[in-house]
Amino acid sequence: MTIRLYETDAYLTVFEAQVVARRTHDGRPAVVLDRTAFFPEGGGQPWDQGRLDAAGVSAVIESGGEILHVLDAPLAGDRVRGEIDWRRRRDHMQQHHGQHLLSRALVVEAGAATISFHLGAEVSSIDLDREVSADGVAAALAATNEVVWAGRPVQTAVLDRAEALARGVAVPDEAGDAVRIVDVEGFDRQPCCGTHPRRTSEVGFVLALDHERYKGGTRLHFACGHRALGAAHRHGALLRQLAGRLSAPVEGAGEALERLQAQLADGEKRAKELTERLVDAEAARLAAAEGSVVSAVYAGWDPADLRQLALRVVARRPCLALLASRAGKAHLVFAQSDGLPYDVPALLQRAAQSLGGRGGGRGNVAQGGSDRAEGLEAALEAAARGADAFSH
Ligand SMILES: [Zn+2]
Repeated sequence: MTIRLYETDAYLTVFEAQVVARRTHDGRPAVVLDRTAFFPEGGGQPWDQGRLDAAGVSAVIESGGEILHVLDAPLAGDRVRGEIDWRRRRDHMQQHHGQHLLSRALVVEAGAATISFHLGAEVSSIDLDREVSADGVAAALAATNEVVWAGRPVQTAVLDRAEALARGVAVPDEAGDAVRIVDVEGFDRQPCCGTHPRRTSEVGFVLALDHERYKGGTRLHFACGHRALGAAHRHGALLRQLAGRLSAPVEGAGEALERLQAQLADGEKRAKELTERLVDAEAARLAAAEGSVVSAVYAGWDPADLRQLALRVVARRPCLALLASRAGKAHLVFAQSDGLPYDVPALLQRAAQSLGGRGGGRGNVAQGGSDRAEGLEAALEAAARGADAFSH
């Protein structure tokens, strides 16, 4: 049975130990020690990493009642010096203990219990058993940070089950007879096997990132300590960059964006009106041309405008309109006035196929396209010449 040094001293980074067993894990060498400062994965807190002599410790896993230190190289001796990666441990302690405090504050301020906790590589999240409003999250966050800044002592103790229950701790069934309790003076007391700081102030501060509805409750993303500082810096830089592009100070970025959106909406409305007038004028111009077949190729017209144009031309006088546009690729719209004899869908299909594309339609209107726009004029001329072969 390995002595878990991290349980009594979460700040111990260097230790000596004896190898008591050698194993393999997923093809890699692993050792069991008589004592260890390496925390194995548990309670939502990831495992420590570090070194045993010259070998890197890439994972620490509890398996079959043993703590396996999974190594990137075999260990030579039986007497080893271990050193944990303190930056990683401190990061985990900040996120993990911050979660303890935030979960308690959410119970007190919003009546929401934490169902699960995920400590991610960059952001952590907790799932709550009910929907919590933005105001509820803000109140819980304020209460959490008050406790952080108060620097309250954090103590751990191992109690027997009855004693823990008597002190109001919700002891899970799997905890056994001896229960390790983590106590934040006057604020929170709960069973936990993880590593914790001596004082709440070491969490630094807790930052809520966003929250969303999730399975009838709320999923709240957050970051603590140095991660919270990093997120605040990144978000601040991004906000300044966006405000700069809006030529506005950060505080005025929202108003500048609203003005820009209003301008955009006005511009779109104006563009729609002008397109409408252009389509009308162009329909009048085409309808004034001689002959029963009207044909034209445009640059940059989208298929919807081209279709509108074709419908207005054939509504003005009896004719067959063969229209096309180059807008990245080729678009074709063919239409005829009521009462004319052409098979418009077949005529269009033939023209589109001659360009390597396809198309179709029903009755008096058909449209299609091709990725290839070369030969568009020739295709329309051929359609105009051969139209009589496609009449009923
Ligand atoms: Zn804990």
